[in-house]
Amino acid sequence: MSLLRGSRCWHWFRVHPNDDRQHYYTVLVFDERYQMHLFHQKQIGLIQAQEASALSSDAVTRLGEFEALTSSWRVEASDSTRQAHSDLNLGQILFYQKRLGAGIVSHEMTHAALFWLERIGRLADLATDADVQEQCCQVQGNLTRQFWVKWLRIERRARV
Ligand SMILES: [Zn+2]
Repeated sequence: MSLLRGSRCWHWFRVHPNDDRQHYYTVLVFDERYQMHLFHQKQIGLIQAQEASALSSDAVTRLGEFEALTSSWRVEASDSTRQAHSDLNLGQILFYQKRLGAGIVSHEMTHAALFWLERIGRLADLATDADVQEQCCQVQGNLTRQFWVKWLRIERRARV
């Protein structure tokens, strides 16, 4: 399956750190690990679209070592990518289906919660301020809960 010919090989949805549901991360769950790596490599510009279309799935897999990845646009994106996203778009979280589970989802949502604290300028207070710790845990819980509600809905639909 190719990412380039428009055939869809991922599901996507948004998760919100806060109850106001304004800011969001985009979650992408790919069918296969190599598709996640190909998407990431193309996004960060390490390979061009033309080049990517010629790569075998094995070659793409060798390009990436991660099992899931959380990116915060403010922290990691290039200037041009950053400008392309609205202020409400916090970043994206990549997974693939066979490697989904409680641990890896919780891990990535913790990264996302820490990025959120950084975004609102409270990360430096995490070690000493109990309110910030509580806020961090609240955001982590919100993101994790929304992930499973939305993903299980997609899975259920796929089984019908
Ligand atoms: Zn990590």
